[in-house]
Amino acid sequence: MANADATARMSATIDVPGATARTWDVLVIGAGPGGAFAAREAARAGLATLLVERSPFPRAKACGGCLNHTAVEALQRAGLGDGLARLGGPAITTVRLLQDGRHSSIPMPPGVAVSRRTLDAMLAAAAIEAGARFLPETTAIIAREPAQAASAGQRLVELSVRGQPAVPVEARIVIAADGLAQTSLRACGEFESVVTANSRIGMGSMAPAGALALPPGTITMAIGRSGYVGVVRVEEGQVHVGAALDPRFIRQCGSPGRSVVRVLEDAGVPVSGAFDSLDWLGTLPLTRRTLRPVGRRVLLVGDTAGYVEPFTGEGMAWALATAGAALPFIQRGLGAWDGLLEREWIATRASLIGRQQRACRMIARTLRAPWAVRLAIGSLAHWPSLAHPVVTRLGAGPHTKTGGT
Ligand SMILES: Cc1cc2nc3c(=O)[nH]c(=O)nc-3n(C[C@H](O)[C@H](O)[C@H](O)COP(=O)(O)OP(=O)(O)OC[C@H]3O[C@@H](n4cnc5c(N)ncnc54)[C@H](O)[C@@H]3O)c2cc1C
Repeated sequence: MANADATARMSATIDVPGATARTWDVLVIGAGPGGAFAAREAARAGLATLLVERSPFPRAKACGGCLNHTAVEALQRAGLGDGLARLGGPAITTVRLLQDGRHSSIPMPPGVAVSRRTLDAMLAAAAIEAGARFLPETTAIIAREPAQAASAGQRLVELSVRGQPAVPVEARIVIAADGLAQTSLRACGEFESVVTANSRIGMGSMAPAGALALPPGTITMAIGRSGYVGVVRVEEGQVHVGAALDPRFIRQCGSPGRSVVRVLEDAGVPVSGAFDSLDWLGTLPLTRRTLRPVGRRVLLVGDTAGYVEPFTGEGMAWALATAGAALPFIQRGLGAWDGLLEREWIATRASLIGRQQRACRMIARTLRAPWAVRLAIGSLAHWPSLAHPVVTRLGAGPHTKTGGT
């Protein structure tokens, strides 16, 4: 079974001239959990699959690093449970909420804390092992279609490697899984995205083991007036730090590291060591959705189709669920692509994750009211079972339906 070491072989998988020499059944853009999983499933089904990733791989990602119970189950069902276990991420069974020195702990269905560098490498290696070809350090942009292309049996994608002219490659189906920024869609003009006003931005880093004293098996969520910070111990004891913060607050504090420390310490989490010297990764405003997560011969999965602030830590479960649901649509689209397929993809995606995303939007709004957070933490400290309906609702995760054909 694939593991993170297999990523050492990744860069040799294919080069741009090799990639452009043929028409692919499926070209997947982005090797996050959504893209890597979609590529693996397509390759396992015997389809000629190319997975293109902009960054050198493995790479870090701004994230809390918590795979929730639903995501863990999805990987286990797909036969990737052993690969996940080998990464050595600790199990997490509790979420600890803190605000202004008050705290409460809530049991949650068991998940796994794992660094994104390691997890994404394992998933990309699994795609390669299934037969997908991998092209890292290459940016993919879906080409704008001329009007007469409407009946063509493929879609053009431009591939470019730092500073070199873009070259076109053909694919019968394209999966856009390039995350929040949707860089792959910028030339198309057919995917309008709406960003929620005052949306917070994401920040993430990896802190050394001694930077924070954290209870084992627990995600610690420090909630402040300008955002929140989640910290959890991942494999080898390091601490994954993920935050959703008001960009004005980061500017006021002077740096991402200082703003994260301020939220942690105000909430009652002591920090030792300089967070300023860590490498911080940021994101665009987080809460957004693409009005139509499908185009001609293009399916959008994971964050590319829309995302909500990460407080409940479900983004990877959503990415895996939508990626896993794509295969029957890919297989059908290879035969004939039509409006019915597009409508059914929209409906399938909504039935898989629409309910969870609505619940997360509600939680994100509640978190902006300090009195509501105070009330929630106070009540949960006395009656943790009050969280049960929310935890169960969110922990139930994406609807398990994977079809729509
Ligand atoms: C602060 C923060 C904390 C979070 N905490 C959690 C958590 O604890 N648990 C959880 O489940 N989720 C969490 N999330 C959400 C989670 O990180 C995302 O939902 C998840 O990564 C989405 O996966 P994806 O595959 O859709 O996209 P991504 O993981 O973003 O992957 C997209 C990939 O596409 C590549 N790419 C981009 N443009 C191109 C291009 N043009 N060509 C080729 N490649 C391209 C990128 O380099 C990247 O590798 C958090 C998010 C943030 C910001």
